[in-house]
Amino acid sequence: MSNDFLDKTKHCSLVDAHAHLQDPAYDEDRQEILEKVRQKLLSFTWVGYDMESSQKALQLRQPKEPVAVGVHPHNAVGPLEDVLKEFESIYQEADAVGEIGLDTVRSQTTPEDQLMWFRRQVEIALYYRKPIVIHEREAFPYVMDVLSSYHPLHVPVVLHCFSHGPGEALEALKNDFFLSFTGNITYPKSDELRSALKVVPLDHLLLETDSPYLPPQIIRGKRNDPTYVQQVYEKAAEVKDVPMDQLCQVLCKNFVYVFGISLTCSEVVE
Ligand SMILES: [Zn+2]
Ligand SMILES: [Zn+2]
Repeated sequence: MSNDFLDKTKHCSLVDAHAHLQDPAYDEDRQEILEKVRQKLLSFTWVGYDMESSQKALQLRQPKEPVAVGVHPHNAVGPLEDVLKEFESIYQEADAVGEIGLDTVRSQTTPEDQLMWFRRQVEIALYYRKPIVIHEREAFPYVMDVLSSYHPLHVPVVLHCFSHGPGEALEALKNDFFLSFTGNITYPKSDELRSALKVVPLDHLLLETDSPYLPPQIIRGKRNDPTYVQQVYEKAAEVKDVPMDQLCQVLCKNFVYVFGISLTCSEVVE
């Protein structure tokens, strides 16, 4: 991008709404990556995908970095009630419950187990009044069904790595959900996704990297990290035709609202 963009980012507090820096992909150089990320970003959310990764996130986080804990649909196996009993305290300690949901793509777990874990964890989130971070892959109507059965939810709901078109986006917005977009909005073939991004009002938008996954186009095929959320912001600013400083301010405020932590967001430059 132009120098103009770099100037604007000085007034920009970048936040990454979804990352897995506790993942083994960072075992070799985690400290280095964390330093780099903490220098460049105002904050980022640590997201668990099973009990071990959730506990690890709680250990590694700094106070202004929210943590979501939960069991991903790909890990939805085992004696649910025993596991939940043993780990109930981590749901209490966390800032959010996630990532939880349904995934029909290449899953080793059964739809029944996925559904059971999803529902129970939504109930835990509602019980402790925690925001919910949803993972959903090719299961949009099923996820919407489950969530609507708990209506009204009274907690913020984030559809992470949103990967549908404008129709689904509008349906999610009708339910007041937040839509979080990743680096795949930078891929040449993602026109449908960019059309969805266009219809999402700024006050219901989040951006994320889903590191180590979903690297933006410039590092495609490599390990992602939260510093590359900048490329996601750049593309979103272009698609939505909003100035970078405005995008930064609104997304930071959304992040604060959703995860319930206090941060000093950058102001719009006059
Ligand atoms: Zn996910
Ligand atoms: Zn994830």
